[in-house]
Amino acid sequence: MENSAGTLLAELDRKTDRCIRCGFCLDACPTFRLTGQETLSPRGRIYLVRSWREGVIKLDNNVMHALDTCLGCRACETACPSGVEYGSILELARAQVEAGNLRAPLQKLARQQLLRVLTNPGALSFTLTAGRYAKAFTNGRMPSIIAHALSGVTATPPMLPQAHGSANDRPLPERSPALTAKRHTVAILEGCVMRVLFAATNHATVRVLQANGCEVIAPKSVQCCGALHIHAGQHEEALGKFKALIDSFEPYIDGIDAIVINSAGCGSTLREYGALLEHDDDYRDRAKKLSAKVRDICEWLAEIGPAKMVNEINETISYHDACHLAHGQKIREQPRLLLQQIPGIQLVEMQEADTCCGSAGTYNITQPILAAQLLARKIEHIQETGATTIVTGNPGCLAWIEQGLKEKGLRVRICHPVELLDYAYSHPSQGELEGTETNAVG
Ligand code: SF4
Ligand code: SF4
Repeated sequence: MENSAGTLLAELDRKTDRCIRCGFCLDACPTFRLTGQETLSPRGRIYLVRSWREGVIKLDNNVMHALDTCLGCRACETACPSGVEYGSILELARAQVEAGNLRAPLQKLARQQLLRVLTNPGALSFTLTAGRYAKAFTNGRMPSIIAHALSGVTATPPMLPQAHGSANDRPLPERSPALTAKRHTVAILEGCVMRVLFAATNHATVRVLQANGCEVIAPKSVQCCGALHIHAGQHEEALGKFKALIDSFEPYIDGIDAIVINSAGCGSTLREYGALLEHDDDYRDRAKKLSAKVRDICEWLAEIGPAKMVNEINETISYHDACHLAHGQKIREQPRLLLQQIPGIQLVEMQEADTCCGSAGTYNITQPILAAQLLARKIEHIQETGATTIVTGNPGCLAWIEQGLKEKGLRVRICHPVELLDYAYSHPSQGELEGTETNAVG
């Protein structure tokens, strides 16, 4: 049985019914904390959806606004004592909005195109190259006419993203051998945005796994995992991508111990494939099998016991919890413990480390005003730590916080945990610790 509209609505009703309206989630919600509006809180959003389903209100612009302004950060799930699956409620409700005629046609088209470009490596590379040539006209930002079509508001357009780390757009080899006694065989998800903007991070991930006795397979036919689509309510496109990815991993799945992910948003969705394809007779079991093998890179290293690190990094660092790691996958301790094993590292905690930075998939593009407020708060907390390096396990957070650090002119580097681990494992002659570009002023 496929996911029929009726099945999805029944699932939405069952999930919203679990909310007892206690309000314990309110203080955890970044958009409620910023605005103080009940309709921009988890409880308020669930109440609106429930009221629409009960026929008390229409599925109108107010409901759409409440859903659009939600970060999907799932901090409310962490706070909720009743186990309300808010992330799933949001995805199901957004799918209803996108399936209807509520959104202005131009905005709908612009948002669909944005996801098409972001999740197609060829189109993304082309767009970024075109953006570089047009820099004299756009100042390195998204053209304001496009930014306005996407968000419906007038605000400073976001910067166009740049490749993180040194230019290194080589694809991963299909097989990379373990560099010490072989302990495991793992597969890695090269990702769509990751392979264009974070290829250097992908290569660092492979080297860290090799140093830990893992043979690494990077299946060539694997494309986008569908995370951005399911979060945006583009349900049918998302399901198509889930199935294609399952098909691509199928030839390898029995021979690998884990599918290692270095992007929090992708990992969180892959873990949920089993549940998201629950109603699909052809894919249900295969999806569950794949989901059971998914591990975040830090989680995997903690699970197998990390090899000894040899190089010192004498720096004070602070860790920003990506929402889809901390709230989506409940992974908080493993990255911190791993980073603390690097000789010389001093880890200091920032305030509100697990509060969303405003990146949230495409939120910083579609909701630029709230996203900018959240980024400003995150940068303040980073400054308070005095750290010289910020570490985070999600590419979206990394690029967005990096933009905030640059705009503030701060001399603070930001990188993925694997970049520090890669340096800690590498022979000193293999190169300098790089991470991302550091700003000249500060
Ligand atoms: S989502 Fe959970 S915490 Fe929030 S009001 Fe409902 S039951 Fe309470
Ligand atoms: S997902 Fe985040 S922004 Fe949305 S209601 Fe929950 S806590 Fe608030």
